[in-house]
Amino acid sequence: MPRFDALLIDMDRTLFDFDGAEATALAAACEECALRYSDGVLAHYREINREVWRRYDNREISRAELNVERFGRLLKAVGGASDPAVFGGLYLKKLSSEGTLLPGALELMRDVCARMPVVIITNGDDDTQRGRLDASLMASLACSMVASDEVGAAKPDPLMIREGMRLVGITDVSRVIMVGDSLNDDIGAAKAAGVVSCWLNPGRKPAPDDLKPDYEIRSLPELREILGLNLYNG
Ligand SMILES: [Mg+2]
Repeated sequence: MPRFDALLIDMDRTLFDFDGAEATALAAACEECALRYSDGVLAHYREINREVWRRYDNREISRAELNVERFGRLLKAVGGASDPAVFGGLYLKKLSSEGTLLPGALELMRDVCARMPVVIITNGDDDTQRGRLDASLMASLACSMVASDEVGAAKPDPLMIREGMRLVGITDVSRVIMVGDSLNDDIGAAKAAGVVSCWLNPGRKPAPDDLKPDYEIRSLPELREILGLNLYNG
């Protein structure tokens, strides 16, 4: 008997190369707006983005304001004359088509999707994340997605996990595992919902006592053993 009835899994930095997608999308938006792109511009953007996302997480600004504000601040800092809303639109359009997966993700997901329901649980907007899934080599696999802007709550809110379980019709929390690279968001959401948790922790960082995951892996292929995939293969 399989150990779990469903796999819930984070998207960015777990299955998908978000850092690469972000850099590609920013470079493309800069090019379209005749702005010089560099590693310095990217680093500056990431700093601004973190601050603006914090404001969004605190519900101080809306998603639309987030997109305008982060690019407004970036354009001001680098002396760009473009409209932040236009620049943000170009960025999101390019980002939505970036579906590069991290090493080992496709092989693992091919095997898992053939054996149990898989739901991607992602903090992000539905259009962008679905666009990226459709653009990826995972597009043909039977997996579902829950995006935070659809749910109206973001990980670590357990609503994200509950929506994923509802999608695949599973109610027994002991038969569901949530996997992700963020201790706060992914493991926090799993614990709040009462499902089994697995932390993708390649950097071997320590976990505080209140966020200790049930399982910990250094790389995605290690998930095979936890899911019992080797048992299926006989
Ligand atoms: Mg992540």
